Amino acid sequence: MGQFVGIDLGTTYSVVAYINAQGRPEVIPNEHGKAITPSVVYFSGHGPIVGDEAKERQAAGEESVASFFKRSMGDTQFLLSFYGHDYTPIDLSALVLNYLKTQAEQFLRTAVTDAVITVPAYFTHRERSATLEAGKKAGLNVLKIISEPTAAALAYGLRPTQREQRVLVYDLGGGTFDISLVSISASELTVLATDGDHNLGGKDWDDRLLVHLATLFEAEYGIELLGDDINELHIQAEQLKRTLSARQSADMRVQAAGQVGNYTVTRAQFEDLTRDLMERTQRLTESVLAEKHLTWRDLDGVLPVGGSTRMPMVTDYITRMSSKAPMSGVNPDEAVGLGAAIQAAMEIEQSHNAPKLMLAGRKKTTDVIAHSLGMIAENTDRSRYVNSILITKNLAIPAAQTRPYTMPLRKRGNTRLEVFLTQGEHDNPQYCTYLGCYVFSNFPSIADKIAVLDITYQYDKNGVVNVSAVERSTGQPLTLNIEPVPPDVPARFEERPTDQKTREPLTVYLVIDTSGSMSGTPLTEAQRAAERFVNECDLSSTSIGLISFSSSVSVEQQATQNGRKIQKAIHNLHAGGGTSGDSFHTLYGLLHGVEGIRYAIVLTDGQWSGQQAAIAKAKECHEDGIEVVAIGFGGADHHFLEQIASSSEQSFLTDMSRLTEAFSTIARELTEGAGEKRAGSKLRLMR
Ligand code: AMP
Repeated sequence: MGQFVGIDLGTTYSVVAYINAQGRPEVIPNEHGKAITPSVVYFSGHGPIVGDEAKERQAAGEESVASFFKRSMGDTQFLLSFYGHDYTPIDLSALVLNYLKTQAEQFLRTAVTDAVITVPAYFTHRERSATLEAGKKAGLNVLKIISEPTAAALAYGLRPTQREQRVLVYDLGGGTFDISLVSISASELTVLATDGDHNLGGKDWDDRLLVHLATLFEAEYGIELLGDDINELHIQAEQLKRTLSARQSADMRVQAAGQVGNYTVTRAQFEDLTRDLMERTQRLTESVLAEKHLTWRDLDGVLPVGGSTRMPMVTDYITRMSSKAPMSGVNPDEAVGLGAAIQAAMEIEQSHNAPKLMLAGRKKTTDVIAHSLGMIAENTDRSRYVNSILITKNLAIPAAQTRPYTMPLRKRGNTRLEVFLTQGEHDNPQYCTYLGCYVFSNFPSIADKIAVLDITYQYDKNGVVNVSAVERSTGQPLTLNIEPVPPDVPARFEERPTDQKTREPLTVYLVIDTSGSMSGTPLTEAQRAAERFVNECDLSSTSIGLISFSSSVSVEQQATQNGRKIQKAIHNLHAGGGTSGDSFHTLYGLLHGVEGIRYAIVLTDGQWSGQQAAIAKAKECHEDGIEVVAIGFGGADHHFLEQIASSSEQSFLTDMSRLTEAFSTIARELTEGAGEKRAGSKLRLMR
């Protein structure tokens, strides 16, 4: 086993760190004795040169220089060409990683084999996979990809903590902005929520100064700055920004086309020029707090990370909002690299079954992903396509979700299923990021059958997406190929779906008793059963709604294919009050006239007042073609259930501990009886 390191692969600068003999993380200086290395590559004609020298060449106006490529990570269209070779962001990142590996090897005088690499929390599957690939290309075994704010919090956690602290990590680097809400105790570090924008960083602040100076120069001399002059000014603008972090005003000399312009820029002017950029970070910060129903007052502190948090406008904002000075004690340039080294040590112990290392800052780390994982599905009435969320953002990773999908198999067995996976929060497919077209083939030869596929979607420990599928009746795993997203996506999802014949849409309302007797365990069990039901339904052809009834009836959620909305409504149920029978009235109103197959699954644990009225209204539902399933437990009356159900087979009494099983059976029956078959047949329910 070689040496392991932690690497902060930054947009503007990168850092490599290791665990020293005292068990503490320490930054490895590069050949010029610097802790941070510019993520810049210069192509000299005799091969690439990385780091300080490349940055100097760039400053000198050299053109064959690549920088800021991290912003295009995972973008297959982005190619830079030097001396007849094309380079992707993966290739360029691999060069930086390899340079850091070599620097570490020289410093440590041993081979470096393994690394934890950090990425912005906001990186999607594509960018994370690309980072893994870059690591491999650089000759590293990538132990894990972790989020930058998480790594920074780990480094911060080196300091002894007596009690659990809730910390907001505000990470503004050179090209990306990440915000994470983290809970840190002596032994654990849990990321509660994260968000960000990977097109927002120090570079945008530089650009504002650049435009400002170029405009002043143009106004004075009527000369538009281009090419080398702009490159030169870019570097000056970054310097000016740094000076304005230390001083209230700074002078700038702009030289081009034989003319010289001298300008003074004040900090206040700079803050005006960039106010909207600050506001973007503020909106994201506040949305992360709101997501967890927290306010600034609930925080123990704010941890600034990334070089751009040195700007006074950032520290002022943090101090103003949290009424405390930003947390200190970690170097904002080095924290991420140091945290990555701690994580690398913990990964090595685990993956190599190695003895426990001496290690400061050891914590069990739980991270989350900033994006929900979804797939494109038809809505139930097949009038449009929707993005159906499979794994909600901010769930701890690794996370997996298995969902059934029903489809007819072709006679000759050449069936193929295309699944478009997305990352994004929006229902509308036009606003999502597409991960690829996941094509399943190798279906079992069960011709002319509606097959149920159990598809498992997963975020692994790196936040990378994995998908697999099994045909339920044969247990046969399907073959998966990931194809690029066709050029007509997402435009094609603006059209009406064309597949009209195969699956009859299904609308189900869960009608749950929330009277006082359901308080406590009965309601918890009912919620568990309902959640399971939702997970086992094919939401690409099923809409589910939720009604609760006690003294009054309330529609907690209109029928929807958005699994997240239904689960949220189920989660929010609470019990109290008496029972009345009005729910069939509400149900009729919701389902009358709805196209396709309609079901109501009623769950109750007691006697209803106004039973006769309920039975009469239930009959109206039956006559309208609404299938009613009635499940009772506790003090429920079987005779009454038989009358409100569409048929006596669709009513039964069960035990509270078997509710989940009962709901799961119903979901499976509904799913497996999908399509034309589902219309005529009654459910074969477990008794
Ligand atoms: P990072 O990617 O975290 O290394 O952050 C680099 C960014 O921090 C670059 O945009 C730098 O210009 C910026 N930066 C570094 N030092 C300062 C400073 N003193 N004032 C303002 N920005 C800075």
